[in-house]
Amino acid sequence: MPRPLLATIDISALRHNLAVARRCAPQSKIWAVVKANAYGHGLARGMRGFADADGLALIEVEGAVQLRELGWQKPILLLEGVFELADMQVVAQHQLDIAIHCDEQIRMLEQAGLPGPVDVHLKLNSGMNRLGFRPEAFRDAYARLRAIAAVRQIGMITHFANAEEAGNPGMPLAEQLARFQRATEGLVGPRSLSNSAGILLHPQVQGQADWIRPGIMLYGATPGARSAQGFDLQPAMHLTSRIIGMQHIEAGETVGYGSRFAATGPMTVGVVACGYADGYPRHAPSGTPVLVDGVRTRLLGTVSMDMLSVDLTDVPGAGIGSAVTLWGAGLPIDEVANAAGTVGYELMCALAPRVRVVEN
Ligand SMILES: *Cc1c(COP(=O)(O)O)cnc(C)c1O
Repeated sequence: MPRPLLATIDISALRHNLAVARRCAPQSKIWAVVKANAYGHGLARGMRGFADADGLALIEVEGAVQLRELGWQKPILLLEGVFELADMQVVAQHQLDIAIHCDEQIRMLEQAGLPGPVDVHLKLNSGMNRLGFRPEAFRDAYARLRAIAAVRQIGMITHFANAEEAGNPGMPLAEQLARFQRATEGLVGPRSLSNSAGILLHPQVQGQADWIRPGIMLYGATPGARSAQGFDLQPAMHLTSRIIGMQHIEAGETVGYGSRFAATGPMTVGVVACGYADGYPRHAPSGTPVLVDGVRTRLLGTVSMDMLSVDLTDVPGAGIGSAVTLWGAGLPIDEVANAAGTVGYELMCALAPRVRVVEN
């Protein structure tokens, strides 16, 4: 008998969410972002769910090779480019598109002496100050790339720091957009700007973009500002389990490590087969929502490695074997993440290898 904990990946939800992205930017091509094992959903499943995308984008070089071996023939973009010179041979062999975000990567391209053509995407640091060339260095970098015989097309990309909160005074979206326009004006090549928040919240930006780069929205979680449902997104990951133990406790009795939850009256406590070694956040506090038999109840006490406890006092009929939803249908991953002080991204990416995964 396997452990009852199960992650069910809904391929049709991946397809649906891709279609939402398509609707938001009908003129743009789509890089479906499948980094981090397709945000925890599995690279091969991502590939199938996003079969209609124009390309797949990720960080991991070995993941890109795996996609080719799985039969993906459309473009693949390495969002951070390569990490060392030896990777350039992999790029040529598997025809990968690469981001170029620093002088060292240009040097690698110059030194690699690649036989075949490679499409590159020159990254502008338009204000996030993570990866990319500063605006004043951008045109020189472009010219250096143009002079490399193996370079075929030079795209231009940037990344927004605050697409979900465009007015953030630290770096407003409009300022990043203006810097991108100035830096790329007159240069030839496809442009790509937006992550999920940019796509969902700033459709007017997409008119200037040849490609969009949706990630989180494709998996049915929100990038912020509104709920996933409010964006017409469907959850692609459902994490479910069962009650495997019960305790009836009295007022003053405590639950779990550190005795951080104390009952104020008689209570029924259910023990769920799911813990932090499965990817459930250990820092989720008492009160974090959980569904038992479809009824919304709450986490009690500290999450253990293999188990967590929930309040069954007001879930009539619940007992050993009752169905539990940690997140998915009926309980958005974003609500759980919010209660735990994090984002849906982190929860889905943290799904542990020991969790059984099935598809529907
Ligand atoms: C991860 C990533 C994305 C996707 O971001 P989401 O917020 O998940 O939509 C887009 N572009 C780049 C460069 C990324 O690294």
